[in-house]
Amino acid sequence: MTFFGVTYYPDQWPKSTWDETFAQIKETGFNLVRFGEMSWDWVEPEEGKFDFSGLDQALALCQKHGLKVLLGVPTCQAPSWLIHKYPDTRPVAEDGTLYPEYGPRPNVCKDHPIYQKLATRLTQKLAQRYHRHPALLYWQIDNEPVYPPLDATVLKDYCHCPHTQKAFQKWAKSKYKTLDQINEAWGTKFWTTTFSKFEEITPPRAGFWEAVSPHIFLDWYRFKSERLRDWLAFLKQEIRKYDKTHKIGTNGFIGICARVPDHDILAEAMDWYGIDLYPKGNRMEDLEVAMFADLFRSYCRGEFHITELQGGQNVRWGNPDFVEGPEIKRWVEILLSRGATTLLFHAWRPALFGSETNGFGILKPDGSPTRRLEIIKQILNPKSKILNKFKILNPKSKIAIIYHRSGEVQCYQEQGPPRGVSGQWATVREDIGLLYGFNSILGAYRLIYQKDEAIDFLQERHLNEGNLNYKTIIFPNPYVLSQKQYQNLKKFVLRGGTLITEARFGLKDENAHLYPTPLIEDLLEVTYDHFEITPDGFLDVLEDYPKKKQLIIKKAGKGKVIYANFSLFLEIRKGSKKSLSLLKKHLENY
Ligand SMILES: [Zn+2]
Repeated sequence: MTFFGVTYYPDQWPKSTWDETFAQIKETGFNLVRFGEMSWDWVEPEEGKFDFSGLDQALALCQKHGLKVLLGVPTCQAPSWLIHKYPDTRPVAEDGTLYPEYGPRPNVCKDHPIYQKLATRLTQKLAQRYHRHPALLYWQIDNEPVYPPLDATVLKDYCHCPHTQKAFQKWAKSKYKTLDQINEAWGTKFWTTTFSKFEEITPPRAGFWEAVSPHIFLDWYRFKSERLRDWLAFLKQEIRKYDKTHKIGTNGFIGICARVPDHDILAEAMDWYGIDLYPKGNRMEDLEVAMFADLFRSYCRGEFHITELQGGQNVRWGNPDFVEGPEIKRWVEILLSRGATTLLFHAWRPALFGSETNGFGILKPDGSPTRRLEIIKQILNPKSKILNKFKILNPKSKIAIIYHRSGEVQCYQEQGPPRGVSGQWATVREDIGLLYGFNSILGAYRLIYQKDEAIDFLQERHLNEGNLNYKTIIFPNPYVLSQKQYQNLKKFVLRGGTLITEARFGLKDENAHLYPTPLIEDLLEVTYDHFEITPDGFLDVLEDYPKKKQLIIKKAGKGKVIYANFSLFLEIRKGSKKSLSLLKKHLENY
């Protein structure tokens, strides 16, 4: 069964209007409502003083109208009383400045023991009170879990408080066991940075682009993702003490590694994982909507949800292109066809106050209907049979794309964000730094996109496990690759698979150390000389091959490798028809 719903925050509207609003939501054809995830001050207005009367009433009204509830556990943003009573719970930037006490999210550090204690108690209280509520369908822990900053234009790094630092030291100790192994993995012989005690370890404070250690930076990124995963897993266990049945998950949003953790790691602990998708806000074409659906489905160990689908015009943080209505039908079709089992719009009515005032509503600010509402009603009306016409694609594809997060993080860290300083060397270009990994994935997807075919994405865990049961695997941005991952890919080729890849294959290992001999030499039996940076990306220069863009095709065992010695996928992303047609002919029978 598919659930269709909408976000509606009762605590932002007069109580006298709730009954009618829930009735309208039901009448539209929705069967699910999402609220609560941002409302800590609603249920705990003072420390230890809980007030569930509003939430009780909202849930009772949902039950009355036959609506199920996706109930948020509001741990993502701390209320004012908490921040002011315990000011050092605020996240700390690398320069020691504190994150703003309200406004941007998240305003609290998840590693702080006081926050943890209070968030745990809140979670227990909610689970205890509502786990048997007949309207409850799903739990949502937190909301878009990240370490700050949430905004891509903020070039600061968080969190550098003593608690997070200690957690990082503990994580490093658990991963590498000894200081010698940490020093080796992080290459601390460079510029006399050898750690002589675990307590000396600090997160990379120099910032992304000031010669920070790429090895520590990569592990810092992994640490933050795993830390968030463990916190989500912990809260899930707290709910499970009371509630053995309802599915528990959280939601992520699209972003490059400067903003978001590794979703594949976060999703590990969750029964469902959702994407917050704003096609107009990000000026996406249908192909990209399909890609993000395929990508997020691949993160899910359980159900795949669309937690927020843009219901109205974006405000403030995204492109303000108007949502007319008919495009919603296309988005729903794409998302359902690619395996989403629950789909919620954001939001029922635009907020009348706050930093997203007038944004996203399906209705007008005065509550009157729009064309968007009519289209959604048509889609959800059983008599229209529109939903029956949407084809559910077989999510098991014959072809897969590798999204290697470590490679993406490395490219970002090496080139950094654009600095705009005159005289800086050419590599400040964001298309080969900040956005290289992401754009390469988009290019690979463009190469094989077909409206009626779902595409699988493979993460580093799949490469580690080695169950690569595909006919063809595409590997954009293959810069970082561990020996284990490489051997599994090689086995895939020898057993009959086709691997399509591009420049800089296997130049760095999992710690971002340069291999003395790049893995491409073993894969293709070539001699690698160096890579150059060109206006179009990277160009590998090989001995015995002319220094120009080319495809090298090599049979190996029962399979083959198709390797482009240039940034093929970035070029396709940028619209190069030549690169697209160069590859298409090799994909006729995939
Ligand atoms: Zn912290």
